[in-house]
Amino acid sequence: MKGMMRAVVIDAPGAAEVMQVRDVPIPEMRPTDVLIRVEACGVCFHDVVTRNGVMKRGIKMPVIPGHEVSGIVEAVGPQVRGFKAGDRVTTAQRRHICGYCMYCRSGRETSCEEREFLGDIGLNGGYAEYVAVSQDNVCSVPAGVPLDQAAICACAIGTELNAVRDVAHVQAGEKVLVTGAGGGLGIHGIQLARLSGGYVVAVTSSAEKAKIIAEHGAHEVLLVKRDEDFSDAVKAVTGGLGVDVAIDNVGSPTFSATRRSLAMGARWIFVGQVTGEFVKLNPAQLFMRDISIKSAKSTSRKQLQDSLELVARGQVKPVITGELPLSMAHQAHREVESGRSTGRILLKPAL
Ligand SMILES: [Zn+2]
Ligand SMILES: [Zn+2]
Repeated sequence: MKGMMRAVVIDAPGAAEVMQVRDVPIPEMRPTDVLIRVEACGVCFHDVVTRNGVMKRGIKMPVIPGHEVSGIVEAVGPQVRGFKAGDRVTTAQRRHICGYCMYCRSGRETSCEEREFLGDIGLNGGYAEYVAVSQDNVCSVPAGVPLDQAAICACAIGTELNAVRDVAHVQAGEKVLVTGAGGGLGIHGIQLARLSGGYVVAVTSSAEKAKIIAEHGAHEVLLVKRDEDFSDAVKAVTGGLGVDVAIDNVGSPTFSATRRSLAMGARWIFVGQVTGEFVKLNPAQLFMRDISIKSAKSTSRKQLQDSLELVARGQVKPVITGELPLSMAHQAHREVESGRSTGRILLKPAL
């Protein structure tokens, strides 16, 4: 489709103000692309580290950020099957995958060598009126799931589903620590860990968030100061043993405290990293206690489909705490970067 659209553009990394709304061409469609009129786009920490320059790998500026997109199909390329104009859809976080490599053919397209992360490359991302995404990364939204909620089913819910179900394999009765529990990932990780039968121990540094975290199913909510070692508190609520699983949405800032919170034989799943800092680790600290480190990266389309089903059935409740127009993207970033926001903030081009 020819024409111009409004979008948030970042020309070079910097503070939140580097994001400017301007008119750019509607993205060109490849033959397998679905062009989506954006209803909502979730604001993710990924977008913050893209914008502030902490993440450099795979980024090609100028860029329109945003990979948590829902909307209505505007047009489809000649090779698209299964989608038509007017469909309600949401996207996995990628703009393109090859579709035939061993990763794509085993439900692990998150590792496809050809993958292009949506919103990392050029002027095609979710902070815009339109976005073009290949059909392999698009899902229909079930009736009964509002598009606002569908927008965050991939990243904020699907990535935690990846971590809790498909990487950690949380079992009924296991004790599960969730760090960054009030954030966009954590608040859904809590719900998924509970749904899997886990005894959920949540850590947060915000009293306001503590209440919401408890409402969303955490069995224990530990309110700690930023940079405080919370491991004694975790031990106190787990019979002195620590947790069997840690779903770590924070990374470096909570590294040592999380390690000291782990029970013998625990699985430690890395999902998020909010700073670029390296950490100190003595390998003996792992093998002397049979601790495994694993990681979960983004969301496959299968995980997205399952997340949409969980939301449609009311088993997971998407937590959205604000919606802003594109012109307020800088404010959304400040909220996310400072850790003030609970759950997800959406940008909506129609506002
Ligand atoms: Zn592939
Ligand atoms: Zn995201």
